[in-house]
Amino acid sequence: MKTLDPSLLSNGMECSAIEYDTFAWPGGYPIFYVTQDNAPLCPKCANDNISLCACPAESQEADPQWRIIAADINYEDDSLYCDNCNQRIESAYGE
Ligand SMILES: [Zn+2]
Repeated sequence: MKTLDPSLLSNGMECSAIEYDTFAWPGGYPIFYVTQDNAPLCPKCANDNISLCACPAESQEADPQWRIIAADINYEDDSLYCDNCNQRIESAYGE
């Protein structure tokens, strides 16, 4: 698993100013996010809860269920589901 591009992460006051990408560029592959407690999160949930997801580790608000520590592209996992909304996370080559 590759590490999240630091430019996707933010901290403190910038939390509300960023947005998590839904698709990787170049290629347009579907991205999913991984929280500190190792649960997959879809981009929609990441963006809906962006202040939690982008929360810095040292913050008192930091919640391992939400804090995103990595992003990856879902190439072919047909059974990857978001831990929050239970929606299937789109795969690039699946189906
Ligand atoms: Zn979700």
